[in-house]
Amino acid sequence: MTSQERLQQIADESANIVFFGGAGVSTESGIPDFRSEDGLYRETYAYPPEVILSSDFFFSHTEEFYAYYRAKMLPLSAEPNAAHLKLAEMEKKGKLSAVVTQNIDGLHRKAGSKRVYELHGTIHKNRCLKCGKGYPASFIASSSGVPRCTCGGLIKPEVVLYGEALDGPTVDGALHAIRRADTLIVAGTSLTVYPAAGFLSYFGGKHLVLINRDATPFDGAAELVIREKVGEVLSELRV
Ligand code: NAD
Repeated sequence: MTSQERLQQIADESANIVFFGGAGVSTESGIPDFRSEDGLYRETYAYPPEVILSSDFFFSHTEEFYAYYRAKMLPLSAEPNAAHLKLAEMEKKGKLSAVVTQNIDGLHRKAGSKRVYELHGTIHKNRCLKCGKGYPASFIASSSGVPRCTCGGLIKPEVVLYGEALDGPTVDGALHAIRRADTLIVAGTSLTVYPAAGFLSYFGGKHLVLINRDATPFDGAAELVIREKVGEVLSELRV
């Protein structure tokens, strides 16, 4: 039996699948991940990405933060790929109960998924730190220097920067979904960013499936490991 056939078998016998994904889910939409060969970590900047994308850096080097953020983290013309679309279809058909994502690009919602736990927030919400007024991502993209609110306050993306805590209700919802799942499909994540990677340990269901191009520290724990592109694998799944 091929791994694709085994995945089909698992999907057929599952009634409550949860998908847990990372940056690799969006590479087929043209958005680079962090740790692949063509990922953002291989590019050379004055500071490494985890420094630039940290809370400390945001407040101490705000203009440099925004220069990087606008150039690298705002893929506003990207479209959902076959993985996002299949997951939305699986939810519609009652097969999949939730998507838990580390991504901030908003592509699962754009594809039509309704129950999405965005552990690291979203580029599509931005808020003035002084008066709380909200701004769309397009406002940040077309701004220059440091984006400011009409009240003069500093605008901050509602993404979880390194050094910041995850949102409590989002974590609770994600863990609740993972605990109740009979199958957890983990894909496109190096499983090295915590606390998100630790969420896998809350899964107590029947089938743990990993779809990832490179090896991960959790490969040994999975029933099925598929080292292929997640969009290609999921697009062949019949639900
Ligand atoms: P990562 O870069 O650490 O790992 C990505 C993994 O995906 C790699 O192991 C790679 O082998 C695999 N991969 C890449 N393309 C794939 C494909 N088409 N099919 C299957 N596997 C593929 O990403 P991470 O674990 O998500 O951690 C990085 C952090 O930065 C996360 O918080 C992440 O969400 C964030 N980030 C988000 C975006 C985005 O929103 N699109 C982009 C870059 C980074």
